[in-house]
Amino acid sequence: MVKTSFCAMLNLSAKAMIKVENISKTFGDFHALKNVSLEVLTGEKVVVCGPSGSGKSTLIRCINGLERHDEGLIEVADNRLTHTSSSLRAVRSSVGMVFQQFNLFPHLTVKQNLTLGPVRTRKLSQPDADKLAMAYLERVRIPEQADKFPRQLSGGQQQRVAIARSLCMEPQIMLFDEPTSALDPEMINEVLDVMSELAGSGMTMICVTHEMGFAKRVADTMVFMDHGEIVEKAPPEQFFSNPGTERCRDFLSKIL
Ligand code: ADP
Ligand code: MG
Repeated sequence: MVKTSFCAMLNLSAKAMIKVENISKTFGDFHALKNVSLEVLTGEKVVVCGPSGSGKSTLIRCINGLERHDEGLIEVADNRLTHTSSSLRAVRSSVGMVFQQFNLFPHLTVKQNLTLGPVRTRKLSQPDADKLAMAYLERVRIPEQADKFPRQLSGGQQQRVAIARSLCMEPQIMLFDEPTSALDPEMINEVLDVMSELAGSGMTMICVTHEMGFAKRVADTMVFMDHGEIVEKAPPEQFFSNPGTERCRDFLSKIL
């Protein structure tokens, strides 16, 4: 009952796009994730924040199979993540990921960076992949950079290329891991604007970021992590005005 009205309020479908149930992850004897559960509905935008080392990157890397969780269950777009190659392929074809470091191929032009995946993995013809690449470069507002190399672009432009490259794979979900942390301040907004527009288009998103202005505008749900646990999960109005734990209040007081 509560869920139905919550979804109606946010104009979300009640279908879970991502289900994370009681996952744990250790590196040696260090517990990076402890019994973490999170459900993300179709079209929902989740913003994850928390101190450095709290497990944010590990969580989203587990969701697209870049890290292997030790325990618990992960389902992405109805595919159970089992770490067989077919399961990894299925999950990764539904998920786009954007990192703090843009990870573009330096020896390829912007357009070639965008068309590589569609031609190799999605088996598009080169002309179709070129058209798709140009459409997404328009969408991130840098079509004029198509034939340049990544090193000739600013950090903000490179990150927009990285977003466009993910979108060329036509994912159902986008994961962002601190996409603006490596950028000079004047370039942060051009990337956040592209992300806000993507959010407005109905994409299901998990964004790890400490850009709280963006979070207030875009998030349906805020998540606060600390020491490998989800300590708090709430709609932004409640999260920012009345954090339920001392740890979260203390964290917000440092970054707001
Ligand atoms: P966050 O993204 O919140 O800063 P991470 O998920 O990157 O945190 O890391 C959580 C903890 O797990 C950190 O203490 C980090 O040192 C540790 N960790 C992450 N990846 C590895 C790894 N591959 N090997 C060992 N420890 C790791
Ligand atoms: Mg991180």
